[in-house]
Amino acid sequence: MRIHPLDCGSFVPPGARWLGVPHGAWGPARLACQCLLVELPDRLLLVDAGIGLLDVQDPLRRMGPRFIGLTRPELDPAHAAIRQVQALGFRPQDVTEILITHLDIDHAGGLADFPWARVHLAQAEHTAAVVRPDRVERQRYRPAQWAHGPHWVTHGPGGESWMSFEGVRPLGDLGPDVLRVPLPGHTRGHCGFALRTDSGWLLHAGDAILDRRELGFWRHPPVALRAYQRALAMDVGARKRSRAALERCHLEHGHEVEIICTHEAAGAAQRG
Ligand SMILES: [Zn+2]
Repeated sequence: MRIHPLDCGSFVPPGARWLGVPHGAWGPARLACQCLLVELPDRLLLVDAGIGLLDVQDPLRRMGPRFIGLTRPELDPAHAAIRQVQALGFRPQDVTEILITHLDIDHAGGLADFPWARVHLAQAEHTAAVVRPDRVERQRYRPAQWAHGPHWVTHGPGGESWMSFEGVRPLGDLGPDVLRVPLPGHTRGHCGFALRTDSGWLLHAGDAILDRRELGFWRHPPVALRAYQRALAMDVGARKRSRAALERCHLEHGHEVEIICTHEAAGAAQRG
């Protein structure tokens, strides 16, 4: 399995340096939006869809003024996953599966660029965003991003213990090397995805953490980072439990599982 990290969005939010984001060599603190393009023997798989072409063309309608004001996305079509898939020499039509950690604006925007793909996500996330959003969720999600009618494939609860996590299981016909790892809290049905490469497991933890330094390196993460995560969490207790499981995984299984998250500097080494 060969994995290509793609940075499918770039944010320069006001006050990012208070979140512990270092200033770049050439400019202000910048948050990435890391997706993964995975080469399976017979198809391509995308983990999260990032900011898409339609978001770049019509940001106000697709993402809303609140999100734009809070995150200040740099709107560049070259960041869209579909453009990066093409730049790597692949056919977008070969991306037949998209695994979605959750349906927040910065993770779902690119879905419309791959309308033929099956979109795998937790049933709880589909319910929260698409079927029955509550008052807060109606503000949070942007149905315009799935107005094209994606081919949803929802995955219900249940599964096995794996590393430090519960309820883990393979994603149907994608085989035993692609696992869904429930990491709820940031949203109702937030989950991560673990991919088995030749050099061990790579776990994309989505927004369950915002920086890998949360896993053991920072004894006290920046106060602003913790406040930001609390403010964005649909279930603060569940988010803490998900983060604790990630920390245990890092401490106990760090030699066999590499954990990454969405909003950190891109550039995780190419693997597989
Ligand atoms: Zn996010």
